[in-house]
Amino acid sequence: MFDKVLIANRGEVALRIWRACKSLGLQTVAVYSKADRDLRHVKLADTSICIGPASASKSYLLQQKILLAAKLTGAQAIHPGYGFLSENAGFVKAVEDAGLTFIGPSSEAIACMGDKVRAKQAMIAAGIPCVPGSDGAVPDSDAEILECGTKVGYPLIIKAAGGGGGRGMRVVNAQSELLRSVSLTREEANAAFGNPVVYMERFLQTPRHVELQVLADQHGNALWLGERDCSTQRRHQKLIEESPAPGVGRDLIQEIGQLCVKACLAIGYVGAGTFEFLYENGEFFFIEMNTRVQVEHPVTEMVTGVDIVAEQIRVAMGLPLSISQDQIVFSGHAIECRINAEDPWSFAPSAGTVSDWLPPGGPGIRVESHLKPGFKITSHYDSLIAKVIAHGSTREQAIERIKVALSELVIAGVDSNIPLQLEILGTPQFAQGGANIHYLEHYLDQREGSQQS
Ligand code: ADP
Repeated sequence: MFDKVLIANRGEVALRIWRACKSLGLQTVAVYSKADRDLRHVKLADTSICIGPASASKSYLLQQKILLAAKLTGAQAIHPGYGFLSENAGFVKAVEDAGLTFIGPSSEAIACMGDKVRAKQAMIAAGIPCVPGSDGAVPDSDAEILECGTKVGYPLIIKAAGGGGGRGMRVVNAQSELLRSVSLTREEANAAFGNPVVYMERFLQTPRHVELQVLADQHGNALWLGERDCSTQRRHQKLIEESPAPGVGRDLIQEIGQLCVKACLAIGYVGAGTFEFLYENGEFFFIEMNTRVQVEHPVTEMVTGVDIVAEQIRVAMGLPLSISQDQIVFSGHAIECRINAEDPWSFAPSAGTVSDWLPPGGPGIRVESHLKPGFKITSHYDSLIAKVIAHGSTREQAIERIKVALSELVIAGVDSNIPLQLEILGTPQFAQGGANIHYLEHYLDQREGSQQS
């Protein structure tokens, strides 16, 4: 049990965590960089402590500073949010060793899922369908690498075992490119993640990204909360997420959901988690598990009514999940648009002072944001500045509501991708639902082409 939580993050997710803590009657500690002293959760927290300059590598990513802040303020638990230290097994081990509670799974579970080769092996053992590929790491000798490539078949994708954030991947179309691609990806993986191990998978040509949300407690209970379709991506970065996934059979989702629950129990998983799958031709293929709360968790909250962050905290306190699988009712449709501070056409990040901020409202609309007039957006952090989520009884209603909400939303003083989001929502592909992970990039390429000609 604990009654004081340190929020080891910033921005919208820090505010989200503060709200969940407050709803559970917990005290909060905000840690902030010098650039973030005006953030709302910093003002709202019971205690706030500055942990360094704006650069994340000198503040939010410095494990010893976060641990020291917990010690100085008497926080007994740490909520990592997403990004920063949330999936850093070394940090989680240090938190555990300091006698504090990490609000998330154990350091072993994070280490296992953070190594994608180990994660895939654990999932295969638990009966989860995976993308066919090399059994484990790519071998060392040229002959074995070529043999492995032939077994997987072309096109294939080489992926870093320690990779993340859409980096450390390379598509290989023919055997003649294989050896060079393996050695290049190994070098890049070693430089970026300190781990040269790579593995191979069949490259799926037109998949959708469909992920399953799970929650598990320390008492042997686990449940699934439906899926999210996150296929609207640019450079592997999600822009729009929705639940349910259009056109995917409910029986199949239920089958996959139950398999994910079984896998959680098999690996002794505790906390909130996401099983990411590629979905193609009616089949699911596991790609990785995220061991933290996701940016897009609100769409699941909107269709199930479950407060995922509060459940995460309750579970970390040792309490059982407050709901069981048979109490979960999926209702209507939810869509989230990520609002980034960036030029909507060139995607260049935009920095500056927010001169005006008017969030939208109305039936079924939810806004998660730390913005306020006068807030300075710097280049030190991720460009995500707000999330707008709409719920409707049907997908069409959710789309109409989110379009109205985005047309009402005012963010002045910096560029934002609101015009792009409105444009995407208006495309026939989005309206139809079920487009694959490449549709947005194809759409953007065509648009660029037509503007140039
Ligand atoms: P990361 O942890 O870096 O996000 P993932 O394994 O989740 O890596 O893959 C990121 C994205 O790369 C996926 O959403 C998908 O767009 C693409 N991808 C990954 N594996 C495959 C595959 N086997 N076939 C086709 N696309 C893939």
